[in-house]
Amino acid sequence: NHYTASDNRYDDSADLYRRCGRSGVLLPKVSLGFWHNFGGVDSYDRARAIARCAFDNGITHFDLANNYGPPYGSAEQTLGKLMDDDFRPYRDELFIATKAGYDMWPGPYGNWGSRKYIFASLEQSLKRMRLNYVDLFYSHRYDPNTPLEETLQALVDIVRQGKALYIGISRWPLEALRVAHDYLKAHDVPMLIYQGRINLLDREPINEGILDYCQRQGIGFISFSPLAQGLLTDRYLHGVPDDSRMARNHFLKKERLTPELLNYLQRLNATATERGESLAEMALSWVLHQQGITSVLVGASSSEQLQKNLRSVHAQPFDENIEAIV
Ligand code: NDP
Repeated sequence: NHYTASDNRYDDSADLYRRCGRSGVLLPKVSLGFWHNFGGVDSYDRARAIARCAFDNGITHFDLANNYGPPYGSAEQTLGKLMDDDFRPYRDELFIATKAGYDMWPGPYGNWGSRKYIFASLEQSLKRMRLNYVDLFYSHRYDPNTPLEETLQALVDIVRQGKALYIGISRWPLEALRVAHDYLKAHDVPMLIYQGRINLLDREPINEGILDYCQRQGIGFISFSPLAQGLLTDRYLHGVPDDSRMARNHFLKKERLTPELLNYLQRLNATATERGESLAEMALSWVLHQQGITSVLVGASSSEQLQKNLRSVHAQPFDENIEAIV
């Protein structure tokens, strides 16, 4: 089952890549997340097919975190196996991210934002992923009880040690983001990217001014769950399929699919049909057309889904405000 990457993987480069803020890094407009479908409980063959499909189509950016699985750590182990099986020859063509910030191991040092936790976590992540360094390391969430300077200095030192090339933060509130930006800049480790959730159902980083701040400061922005975990696709328009994320009722609860939401999704779907697009395609292109967005970070349970999502890279602009349409 030897893998040779497609010779055509960069054919779409002109449309596929965007500069990440004011940095030297280009990222694909569609990046691949390992939160679901890459854990120890999932089929390795399918995970492998999705990752191969991504790379064969120029998706060079894989997003992980210490606790992705389940069980915790197992998505990173899958990436490690993928490196050995398929991707080692392509290491320099890949931009791999991981994170620390949520609960990972028991006791007082396995969670949040202390230097102790962050250093230990990244060491573990690198072992599981069988990598010497990550391209991007994130603080996964804001810790209100640890001095921001402690967390930020740990991030700076990680870069100094060569264990990560770039730093990002995820889900930090605007005020803390400002502090982080200033601190990192003053220590010559400019913040590469902010990871937050923007999609047609959730615009908090837009409303809070985070996207705007990132754009003005030259920080890239990558949107996680751009499909609202699958709600913004055709998945749930006619019930809850057995093989869907909602059927597992873990992170995406069945209660979420209220009649009002379903009605809104159906109207969005009709708009997408008028545009000659699937709902997923339209949802992704809506995010990609917001000023300041670098990439949408999608999940996929099959390579077919990923391939469909890639169509959003060429999507037509929205000439009207989407609220006015639906
Ligand atoms: P999405 O919103 O893209 O949801 C992905 C799910 O939607 C898929 O697993 C699949 O669900 C369904 N789907 C995707 N494409 C299609 C399609 N074309 N047609 C029908 N259904 C489709 O993203 P995720 O919620 O998975 O998040 C993406 C990534 O973002 C994560 O992997 C992670 O890397 C990152 N993330 C970061 C967070 C943070 O705190 N920083 C938090 C959450 C995510 P199904 O399994 O039902 O087929």
